[in-house]
Amino acid sequence: MDINEPNQHNAPFNHLAKMNLVQDSAQSAILAQITQKAERKLKLRWILAISSLPLFGIYAAFGIAPQSTVHNIPTATVIEEITLPTMSDTTANVAEQSFWYKEHVRRDDTLNTVLSRLNIYNRDAIDFIRNDSAASEIASALKPGRTIQAQTDSEGNLISLKYELDAGQFIAIKQTDTGYEASKVAQILENRPILKSAEIKSSLFGATDAANIPDHIAIQIAEMFESEIDFNTDLRRGDHLSVIYEGNYEQGELLTTGDVLAAEFVNNGKIYQAIGYRDDSGKMQYFTPEGKSLHKSFLRSPLEFTRISSSFSSGRFHPVLQRLRAHKGTDFAAPTGTRVKASGDAKVDFVGVKGGYGNVIVLKHDNGVSTLYGHLSRFAAGLRKGEKVVQGDIIGYVGTTGMSTGPHLHYEFLVNGQHRDPMKVALPKAIPIIGQDKLAFDAISQQLTAQIRLLGNSNIAALE
Ligand SMILES: [Zn+2]
Repeated sequence: MDINEPNQHNAPFNHLAKMNLVQDSAQSAILAQITQKAERKLKLRWILAISSLPLFGIYAAFGIAPQSTVHNIPTATVIEEITLPTMSDTTANVAEQSFWYKEHVRRDDTLNTVLSRLNIYNRDAIDFIRNDSAASEIASALKPGRTIQAQTDSEGNLISLKYELDAGQFIAIKQTDTGYEASKVAQILENRPILKSAEIKSSLFGATDAANIPDHIAIQIAEMFESEIDFNTDLRRGDHLSVIYEGNYEQGELLTTGDVLAAEFVNNGKIYQAIGYRDDSGKMQYFTPEGKSLHKSFLRSPLEFTRISSSFSSGRFHPVLQRLRAHKGTDFAAPTGTRVKASGDAKVDFVGVKGGYGNVIVLKHDNGVSTLYGHLSRFAAGLRKGEKVVQGDIIGYVGTTGMSTGPHLHYEFLVNGQHRDPMKVALPKAIPIIGQDKLAFDAISQQLTAQIRLLGNSNIAALE
C-alpha cells in the first residue's frame, strides 16, 4: 500500500499536482494557490499562537489563578481556545491533515475490502459510494489491476476519491459542504517537456538507456538525422546527444512520452540540430533551426534502425568475396530479417534472383539514379516491377542469399550505371518552411535552439 505523507510534508508543487485530481488544470492551479495561501496563513497563525503562548500563559496564570478556586477552570481550556480559530478554517484543516492512499484492485476484492484498504471508515461516505447512482458504478466496475486513490483525514473520513474506469475515464467523488458528490471525469494530463542529454560510449541505445530516454525517442532521433548520420555505423565515442521531448504527466507522475521537440547531435565534432514543427495534420516534422528540410532525396543507410540492428556487432561480419562485380557497393552488416527501406522515391525496376546477389531489388530513381539491394532473405509482400515506392518504404529483409557468408545488405548506388557516393548526389528532399508557418516556426526554433544549446554546453562543460 502506498501511504503518502500527510500533505503538510509535501512540497507545494507536489501538492499542486495532487489537487489536479478532479479539477481541470486552471481550476486546480487556482485551488492550489488558495490552499497554499491557506497553508501559509495557517503557519502564520501557528507561529502567532505559539509565540503568544508564554505570554498568554503568564497572563492566564496571573488572571485565572485567583479565580480558579472559584470557577475551577482547567488551564487546558485556555490553550484550546487559542488553537480553536485555526481548526475552524476547514480548507486549511483539510490541507493540513489529509492522507493519500493509492491501491490496485485485487482479484478477490469487494467494495468493502477496497475501502478498508484505503482507510475509509466514515459511514456516510460508504453509504454514498454504495447508493449514489454515479458512485455505485465503482462496485460494479471493480476490475483487478485498476487503480483507486483516496484522500482521507486522520480519522478515516473520506475527502476525495478517484477510480479508474476505461481509458482516460474516472469516477471522482469529493466532499462538499452539503455532502458527497460523484461525477465522471476525463483524465487530465499535463504536458511538460523533458530535457535530457547523453554521451555516446558504445551505441545510441547504450547512451539513451543510461540517460533513461525511451527507445521510441532514440529511434525518432536516428530517423530525423538519417539523411546525415547512420546511427549503426557513424557513431564515435564521445559523441553527444541533447534532446527535448514531450512528457505527459498525471498528478506529477510521468505516464507517457510523446514526440521529440528538438534535438542536437554532435557526431565526430560536427553539430546537427533538429527542431520539430507540427504541420496542419498534426504530424511532427523536423527542420534545421533555420527551417530547412532535414531530409534528403537519399538516405544515408537503407537499413531500419532498431535496437537489434544497432547492437549487431560488425566485427563478427566477414566481408564477402570482393570479386562480386568488383564490389562497388557498401556492405551493411545486420541480422537476418532486419527491414530494408527504399533509400529514395522510385519505381521498382527488378525484384527477383540474380546470380551472386541472391534475392535482389533494383530501384529506378529520377535523374538516372538507381539503387540495388542484395542478399535479401525475402521481399516485402506484393512488391512488383513497375510499382512506385517512396523513401522509407519497407521493400525487403536482410538475409544471406547468393554469394554471401553472413547476413548483410549489399547496397549499390549508381548514376547512369556508374557507382557514386550517394551523399554527394542527395539533395534536400522537402521544401523549407515558408510564409505564415515560417514566423511561427522561427519563434519556436529560437526558444528550443537556445534550450538545446544550453543542454549541449552544460554537457560539454561537465566533461571538462
Ligand atoms: Zn557487398
